[in-house]
Amino acid sequence: MPKLLVVDDEHDICDFVKNFFQERGFEVFTASNGDEALAMVKEDKPDIVLLDVKMKGMDGIAALKHIKDIDRSLKVIMVTALEDQDKMVEASKLGACDYITKPLVLDHLEQTVDKRLKEMPDQGLKGEFSER
Ligand SMILES: [Mg+2]
Repeated sequence: MPKLLVVDDEHDICDFVKNFFQERGFEVFTASNGDEALAMVKEDKPDIVLLDVKMKGMDGIAALKHIKDIDRSLKVIMVTALEDQDKMVEASKLGACDYITKPLVLDHLEQTVDKRLKEMPDQGLKGEFSER
């Protein structure tokens, strides 16, 4: 079962994304700030992180830096507003693999997550995904 960590300071977004991916067989963790997210990266070892850029306290860019210090190979997908293009360049340099824009389009989000999961050799998910 793939593990997804959703980090967003808006609880509605966390719940919405969590429900969507749980229905698709993911184990989903949620964090509402950067500190919680870092603790979960260490303890729960997610395969993929969805990381909101705009958060109070530690923002998504700072959280990304710390996540990459913990696990350089962890796939991190940034979630941002359209006007954050400069930040996305920075995020890309820091090792984020994708960014998607709010408002979230779930089909696009699912495609992005699936694409990154399929790149992971140790996931053994090919059969699971090809059934859909
Ligand atoms: Mg936010």
